[in-house]
Amino acid sequence: MNEFTELRERMVRRQIAARGIEDPLILAAFRVVPRHAFVAEADAEQAYGDHPLPIAAEQTISQPYIVALMIEAAQIAPGDHMLEVGAGSGYAAAVISRIAARVIGIERQPELATLARERIARLGYGNVVIVEGDGTTGWQAEAPYDAILAAASGSHVPPPLVEQLKPGGRLVMPIGDPGAVQQLVKVTKCRDGTLQQSELGPVRFVPLIGQEGWTDG
Ligand code: SAM
Repeated sequence: MNEFTELRERMVRRQIAARGIEDPLILAAFRVVPRHAFVAEADAEQAYGDHPLPIAAEQTISQPYIVALMIEAAQIAPGDHMLEVGAGSGYAAAVISRIAARVIGIERQPELATLARERIARLGYGNVVIVEGDGTTGWQAEAPYDAILAAASGSHVPPPLVEQLKPGGRLVMPIGDPGAVQQLVKVTKCRDGTLQQSELGPVRFVPLIGQEGWTDG
């Protein structure tokens, strides 16, 4: 085992499985995606720590456990067609792609979208597409989705994201003020069209900026 494989295995056991996430598909996905390849070279040694890390454009790559928690809550399954809003480094999209059939990762910052796209291509994750744009209005071209994750905290649940869910689809996203403790929320679009919402616990994310989110600056 090389150094990073060992660190990754420890991350899966101590940070994810030890906190109660036991789905073998989720654990296997975190075992294979090289998180150190999604951060700056200078941060590679810290990539498997139990915390977020800075990436370009003053953004962050989320804590591994929180990514796992969101994947579990969204009940992502083999065959699923997925949208991730806030693709950032591309890491979460890469992990999801080891479970789902196809992942669209949308990122508003052109610099991050370009870097994530290059990284995903280099690593060979052929079922991930990184697009650039305001993900608060979703990505209509590939809708509907089995599940949508948003990796940035919104002011409210964006109606276009709910519209782009399939019947039975799940949306998991943080809601709350930038810089404050936010609430991770799950919205399920029931087969009769009604919505069920539940709260999953406190989190801290960067703001979701856009038409159906916060205003830049
Ligand atoms: N999932 C990412 C990863 O694995 O690296 C981490 C994402 S970071 C916590 C949140 C990202 O959301 C930032 O890159 C930010 O630019 C992006 N973002 C914020 N508002 C957005 C929007 N309306 N549409 C798309 N991306 C947005």
